[in-house]
Amino acid sequence: MFDVDLFVIGAGSGGVRAARIAAGYGAKVMVAEEFRIGGTCVIRGCVPKKLLVYASRFADDFADAEGYGWSAPKPSFDWPKLVAAKDQEISRLSEIYRTHLENAGVVLAASRAVVEEAQKVRLLADDRVIRARVILVATGSAPFLAPDVPGLEHTITSNEIFDLPELPRRILIVGGGYIAVEFAALLTRLGSQVTLATRAANILRGFDEDLRIALRDALAEAGVSFKFADLPRRVDKTARGLFVTLSRGETLEADQVMIATGRRPNTQGLGLEKAGVALDDMGAVKVDQWSCSTVSSIYAVGDVTNRVALTPVAVREGHAFADTVFGASPRAVDHTNIATAVFSTPELGTVGLSEAEARAGFACVDIYATRFRPLKAALSGRKEAVMMKIVVDAATDRVLGVHVLGEGAAEMIQIIGIAIKKGTTKADFDATMPVHPTSAEELVTLHSRSARHAPMKLDPGEAVALPDEERMP
Ligand code: FAD
Ligand code: NDP
Repeated sequence: MFDVDLFVIGAGSGGVRAARIAAGYGAKVMVAEEFRIGGTCVIRGCVPKKLLVYASRFADDFADAEGYGWSAPKPSFDWPKLVAAKDQEISRLSEIYRTHLENAGVVLAASRAVVEEAQKVRLLADDRVIRARVILVATGSAPFLAPDVPGLEHTITSNEIFDLPELPRRILIVGGGYIAVEFAALLTRLGSQVTLATRAANILRGFDEDLRIALRDALAEAGVSFKFADLPRRVDKTARGLFVTLSRGETLEADQVMIATGRRPNTQGLGLEKAGVALDDMGAVKVDQWSCSTVSSIYAVGDVTNRVALTPVAVREGHAFADTVFGASPRAVDHTNIATAVFSTPELGTVGLSEAEARAGFACVDIYATRFRPLKAALSGRKEAVMMKIVVDAATDRVLGVHVLGEGAAEMIQIIGIAIKKGTTKADFDATMPVHPTSAEELVTLHSRSARHAPMKLDPGEAVALPDEERMP
């Protein structure tokens, strides 16, 4: 009756995992991919981005080495060489994904696919219609371009930045989120003159306020110019490059303008509404905890559901879907306390609640914070501060959030995420022996409270008034 048990639309992080696991349970699986196997993360997201981040950090390493006794000729950087090396690596990874799918018995179709009916998919490459018992929509997301101004067609997005033939000498980045901040940090180190324009008064809305400020200052120190609450009003192409007029009236010239103002779920023209699948205001597929849409044979995972747009989340959702539908072991993904990192330099790692979020949700919140110069900077002379903040529910001593800015923050926050997931207390942090000499050891030696945001009841029935906003010098 059906051609396949599962038809997956999109061979990205979520789709590939779901297809492979479902096939492992014995399901007959077909996957359609309209671009390249691996999806955003592998082809033009996390992986190539991190390679560019690594490339950019050599600029600091060369400069720092001098303080440690090294001398070397002035280094030079070759963008086309980096792009070629990056391309080779992502092609290798894409092939590995293909091999894993083929080895699992999954049939691949190099085509755009659209939903025809609740259990039918059409492959646009050859107009074939495939009857599927279950359809999984794993089509990811695409850049959202804002503000909608004249000349937007002259701009690029993160899709194009990875393959530019040359490094832009001057670039305007619009947006203040993950992508804008990561590219501002890396491009400035590779040698571009970077200007960052945002609609807000600072970068990284939603992250802990103190770390946002510290990262903004570190980026400025590295050479990034900021235009806060100042967006392009128009972009004109001239013989000398792009001529941008900003909303406050200032003008600037750039070789590239990169728009990084968020992403939107890839559901346009997919035929979902016609099949009865409900979408939200952003165009995301509405799903329940099992990733099932409003049509019982159509599921969706990853960015297209706009839950948490991160690769590991898409992978877990894809895996849980396959376990639930084909493995007879229903599993819902827990979207709380997901550790995440912004791969700027310095790096920002975060898990759990920011200070502001904790204060909004808990009666009494203790803050343990530190800012220090890492040992490495002692000889390199680099003006670099590491910042750490632990947010604690004073009533239970449970750690609600941990925020780290500095070298190794992403690696640290991955491990701290385990403790936070287990509901660890500040006393557990204090009882942990430090690893010396490291930056991370500060997290378990932060004994003095920096601030208490009260009032709270210490014992049931006994009201204890504590000074609000008691902040240690
Ligand atoms: P995707 O990986 O985007 O896969 C969707 C696939 O579906 C694509 O290959 C697309 O071509 C295909 N497709 C779409 N429509 C159709 C159709 N109709 N027919 C056939 N195929 C179709 N996340 C992190 O966790 N860490 C990071 O460091 C990180 N860095 C990022 C950097 C950048 C520049 C970007 C843009 C994103 C980054 N992300 C990062 C986010 C991460 O890439 C996404 O959350 C993740 O890729 C989502 O996986 P997905 O399976 O939902 O979609
Ligand atoms: P983000 O959601 O991180 O940031 C979007 C930015 O665009 C914000 O600064 C926002 O401003 C701004 N913005 C939104 N709408 C407008 C508008 N109409 N006009 C002007 N500015 C606007 O999106 P990104 O595109 O940076 O990244 C997409 C997602 O991909 C991320 O949310 C993240 O989930 C994932 N990602 C993860 C990475 C990682 O894990 N390291 C790296 C890269 C991407 P405001 O703050 O005012 O809302």
